Amino acid sequence: MNSDDLAKKLAILADAAKYDASCSSGGAGKRSAGKGEGKGLGSLTGGTGICHSFTPDGRCVSLLKILMTNYCIYDCHYCINRASSNVARARFSEQEIIDLTMNFYRRNYIEGLFLSSGIIQTPDYTMEAIVRIAKSLRQDHHFKGYIHLKTIPNASPALQEEAGWYADRLSINVELPTSQSLALYAPQKNLNVITGTMTRLDDRISEARAAKKPARYIRGGQSTQMIIGADATSDKGILSASVDLYSRFKLRRVYYSAFSPIPGGGSALPAKPAPLLREHRLYQADWLLRFYEFQLDDILMGADGDMLDLNLDPKLAWALRNRQMFPVDLNRADKSLLLRVPGLGARSVQKILSIRRYHALRWTDLIKLRLPTQKIRPFVSVLDYSPPVRLLEKDALETIIQPARQLNLFENAS
Ligand code: SF4
Repeated sequence: MNSDDLAKKLAILADAAKYDASCSSGGAGKRSAGKGEGKGLGSLTGGTGICHSFTPDGRCVSLLKILMTNYCIYDCHYCINRASSNVARARFSEQEIIDLTMNFYRRNYIEGLFLSSGIIQTPDYTMEAIVRIAKSLRQDHHFKGYIHLKTIPNASPALQEEAGWYADRLSINVELPTSQSLALYAPQKNLNVITGTMTRLDDRISEARAAKKPARYIRGGQSTQMIIGADATSDKGILSASVDLYSRFKLRRVYYSAFSPIPGGGSALPAKPAPLLREHRLYQADWLLRFYEFQLDDILMGADGDMLDLNLDPKLAWALRNRQMFPVDLNRADKSLLLRVPGLGARSVQKILSIRRYHALRWTDLIKLRLPTQKIRPFVSVLDYSPPVRLLEKDALETIIQPARQLNLFENAS
């Protein structure tokens, strides 16, 4: 295979992989993968197939993010790679993926591999190939980088579990939040089969942790992805499904991917994309549920039609509905109340709790801590500062809080 052919395959299969949000990929480059700048394989400026993700210890790593193939025997309506889709198809050989990964890794272009695939022949046939690639990387090539593998729905449990010996993270996508939606839009998938896989993997992870060997067994845990806006499920329904997945299977992440219409997707699907801002609000709400001690009812109390407010981040929306709770005295409030102050992150709260053990906080301490004083000033009090009551009035807050603006996918957040 010459390098031009390999580059064409890489362009197709990296582009096809960009629709999977289940490795946190950074920024605009993600969805323009495959439209590189003509600098050939491994050109980081072209960004072909390179995405970013976070390891279990919080490091941001560059990954080669590709599909083994975008052929698929399944016909999920929302997927560009479904059997009836009219897209250019390609398939890497197992050796090509191993060589690409090792070449990029040795040149320091990547620190790991995110590998997924359409389903060819049978789920087991596909999963066997994925496992062989990962096994060869680890055992034949002594690859020490990060590996995130997608498990194939309906593949045999033994293969899915074997993948865990070579992967840092495994993901299996629930895709849609309800079994009814899955039956409608992905009839070959079954939510019980998917959650059955999650249960088994969670059991194996727990056994490995208990036995303390091998320490590597899926040490980054499991994750999943939900497409939002393809069906009519409300934000409450989506977040309820996430809460359930986090608690039952100890998932590390649920990724949300705003539905985007695809050519020939059929009339059952919406003609318009779901707002990216909805995806963003769901991530914010998900974060509040996991790290800020919020309950689902707190976030959705008073919400219009069980949907998050697109114009306000959910923490700020909660604060505005509960203005009687403010200002919060940063020298006395307990941790759970500090976590509810708009503009205070979990780390800032930790610093506040540490400092106030030694002395009472003043406004200058907040500046030294580099807190967003403009944003927090209506909501907090310290030894030498208390906000005027008028600051918590709606009109005053509106001048402080800039209305949210939807970012374009190809626009830098900065
Ligand atoms: S199984 Fe995966 S690749 Fe195949 S059509 Fe469904 S979502 Fe797409």
